Amino acid sequence: MSTTLDIVRIPVLSDNYVWLMREPQSGAVGVIDPAVAAPVLAEAEKRRWKITHVLNTHHHGDHVGGNLEIKQATGCTIVGPRQDRARIPGIDIEVDDGDRYRFGEAEAEVFFVPGHTSGHIAFAFREQQALFCGDTLFALGCGRMFEGTPQQFWTSLSRLRALPDDMRVYCAHEYTQSNARFALTVERDNKLLVERSAAIDTARAKGEATVPSLLGEEKATNPFLRADVPAVQAAVGMAGGDPIAVFAEVRHRKDVFR
Ligand code: ZN
Ligand code: FE
Repeated sequence: MSTTLDIVRIPVLSDNYVWLMREPQSGAVGVIDPAVAAPVLAEAEKRRWKITHVLNTHHHGDHVGGNLEIKQATGCTIVGPRQDRARIPGIDIEVDDGDRYRFGEAEAEVFFVPGHTSGHIAFAFREQQALFCGDTLFALGCGRMFEGTPQQFWTSLSRLRALPDDMRVYCAHEYTQSNARFALTVERDNKLLVERSAAIDTARAKGEATVPSLLGEEKATNPFLRADVPAVQAAVGMAGGDPIAVFAEVRHRKDVFR
């Protein structure tokens, strides 16, 4: 049976996005990575949506900070990464790589995607073309490599890259404009990147969000998904290099980019 997801963006803190989603056939309502509780509860209340689930991608405070308060207010079930269960407040259901997680009448494929943190997961709703990837993949960027190795992170990003172009990338931060500035230092001759950057500047000047993006445009323009592309390898002086080493170099350059 095929269904849809109604997905709402809730901007919180300085640059976080919490995603609120409803599966209409069952009425299941999920919150992805609630940094805080109050704006999420208010948005759900306004829509008369009853929160049934919290889905966490990783343990950072700006992703789980609202867990317990939302659970207390709604009695919802908290779903998170098995490999990080000790760091997910209130976790009830543990999921791991390859699991099919049923959300109402929809189904997500769970990807274990270490790199930003050691236990990070992503939820891919293939039929609904929605990828909730936390801080693993950003529009034109990726998360900082706090707990992983370049090999792990590149493997994780490569697995997400293998998903279809029409997946929407629901990442957890509005970092796109500064990511674009950096991406242009890597691939200034990438026409699609130049065009996309201009569109991002226009959107941000109007105060518009740039997330979700499409996975297809990330594949074409996000330098962290392109460590095996000759133009990117050449741009960082590593023509023909090992993609893991190229990824590590691009990640390092971003870390020191101002
Ligand atoms: Zn994080
Ligand atoms: Fe974050």
